[in-house]
Amino acid sequence: MKIEDHEVILKVNDLKKYYPMKKNKAGSTVVKAVDNVNFHIKKGETLGIVGESGCGKSTLAKVIIQLLEATEGDILLEGIPLTDCKGTKLKEIRRSMQMIFQDPYASLNPRWTVERTLLEPLIVHKIGTKDERKKIIKNIMRDVGLDESYLSRYPHEFSGGQRQRIGIARALVLNPKLIIADEPVSALDISVQAQILNLLKDLQEEYDLTYMFITHDLSVVQYIADRIMVMYLGRIVEIGSTETIFSKPLHPYTEALISAVPQVTEEKSKERIIIKGDLPSPTSPPTGCHFHTRCPFVMDKCKIERPELHFTNESRAVACHLHSLQ
Ligand code: ADP
Ligand code: MG
Repeated sequence: MKIEDHEVILKVNDLKKYYPMKKNKAGSTVVKAVDNVNFHIKKGETLGIVGESGCGKSTLAKVIIQLLEATEGDILLEGIPLTDCKGTKLKEIRRSMQMIFQDPYASLNPRWTVERTLLEPLIVHKIGTKDERKKIIKNIMRDVGLDESYLSRYPHEFSGGQRQRIGIARALVLNPKLIIADEPVSALDISVQAQILNLLKDLQEEYDLTYMFITHDLSVVQYIADRIMVMYLGRIVEIGSTETIFSKPLHPYTEALISAVPQVTEEKSKERIIIKGDLPSPTSPPTGCHFHTRCPFVMDKCKIERPELHFTNESRAVACHLHSLQ
């Protein structure tokens, strides 16, 4: 099955991000935070990215959004390699990808009113007249569920949920195509999480958005994502539709993650699989398959040979020797 290029908004080819560090016992001088990652996101979909803390999710987001430089590999937005973009084209690309962060308080300037925060990107990108800018931000305030009278307030005057609405409004101001949300509801109370997730779903329709949604919370990703990509120590271990990932996880790591999510619809709940041991240090990851030290099905081959990400169809892939045997 071949996906049409015009359907793809973001394509990531053999992406690597290595952080330099002091030589450790194993002789390693880099942390391979993102290692040979390949995936795409289709227009209008939500790709959920899951995995334990430290597996490289935020690094991947920052490299895509150009906050960090890639060590190697290509990122293509609507078919255009970002490395080829300079000047106004680069500015345009930056504008079409926006990020929402876990902690909006840390990402908002405490000395700026909401109005200034929302106007700033429009001024920087020289969009609209003074009146037009005001109109744009008033409409966005309404769309994110905030009263326009709040424009004159400062970040500390809001609740966590309201602040995240401001963070979302700021991401929307430049009318982006792709939004990368990094743990956007993880710091919020459960009831507020649901409101923000529903808001993001509504905005996706209204603004024609594509989401890359990062979370360590499987129930959040089950609710919001069309497809799910599972990462482990800088590598992709599995990709699939949300439905198939939850009903038929192929990778033992995915299976363990899924088994920890309570399923309300299931008659007989599956037994929870506890992954043994801690996440190995990313500074000296295990040889072969990174997961072999914790895998209940480990074989000799897994300790030596890295399993490649193997596509079974356009939207389903797994990197596991158990499945490459078939
Ligand atoms: P996640 O978002 O999945 O928790 P991160 O992308 O934050 O993962 O981190 C991936 C790995 O890269 C971790 O081992 C982390 O310690 C390391 N790392 C992250 N940022 C830096 C940095 N600026 N310098 C060195 N190592 C880093
Ligand atoms: Mg992170």
